Amino acid sequence: MPEGPEVEVVRQSLEEVLLHQRIARVKVSDKALRRPVTQKDFNFLKGAVVQQCLRRGKFLYCLTGPHQGFWCRLGMAGKLLWQNKGAPLRPHSHVVLHFDNGQRLAYVDPRRFGELVPFPSLAMLETELQKLGPDPLSWSEPDKQRVVRALGQTKRQIKVALLDQGILSGVGNIYACEALFEAHISPFRQSKSLNINERFRLLNATEAILKRAVAHGGTTFSDYEQPDGSAGDNFNHRQVFQRDEEPCHQCNTPIKSRTQHGRSTFFCPRCQKTRG
Ligand SMILES: [Zn+2]
Repeated sequence: MPEGPEVEVVRQSLEEVLLHQRIARVKVSDKALRRPVTQKDFNFLKGAVVQQCLRRGKFLYCLTGPHQGFWCRLGMAGKLLWQNKGAPLRPHSHVVLHFDNGQRLAYVDPRRFGELVPFPSLAMLETELQKLGPDPLSWSEPDKQRVVRALGQTKRQIKVALLDQGILSGVGNIYACEALFEAHISPFRQSKSLNINERFRLLNATEAILKRAVAHGGTTFSDYEQPDGSAGDNFNHRQVFQRDEEPCHQCNTPIKSRTQHGRSTFFCPRCQKTRG
């Protein structure tokens, strides 16, 4: 599942190809996505020019004017592919934006947990953005302090809190495991039991991990690929994720995995002690 860094890599690639391109027409399949859309919903975008490609957390959006555009959530296995005219459309291309220059942007999603949604008003976009906490790839110091306070108030386990997109956005299972390892904090500790130094250490580690992942082109492990079809290589740089029973790079103790809130958590029992 793509997390903030993968979506940022997609955003950067889209920015290179999409900016200043004029939408000629949009084709929508009859299969419902996470939020169902019809061809008619896209009518206002005909003739519109892409002006900005932006992102918060895993939420990607393009503005075609001050108040309108379209957004995309990649969900579990969604992809945005930039294709030349005449290239065969991939199966499961549910929304296809055709541009004046003959190229097209296809939203491909075999599992249909994601969405590509046009927004004719800023209010519609803001409703989505308001659900998302600060993004460690772009947050300000006051944003970070807000997250430190929020983590100090929740009784949930720290890893569960890190995955809450309303507290901070863009961290999914891989980077939550990696950040907790980097900060030497057990994923099973209660969030509010972390002292302020530990919380800052964790958020600094999270920011560093996400930035490193962007620099490596994102983590490709199954379904994620960049809009030009290439793969990211961050998977080779992970410390704990999907390394159960392999030796910890810092202390040689075998990495363990345990199910936590329905997700697999990977950790080093020695480097990440339950008592801080
Ligand atoms: Zn270790």
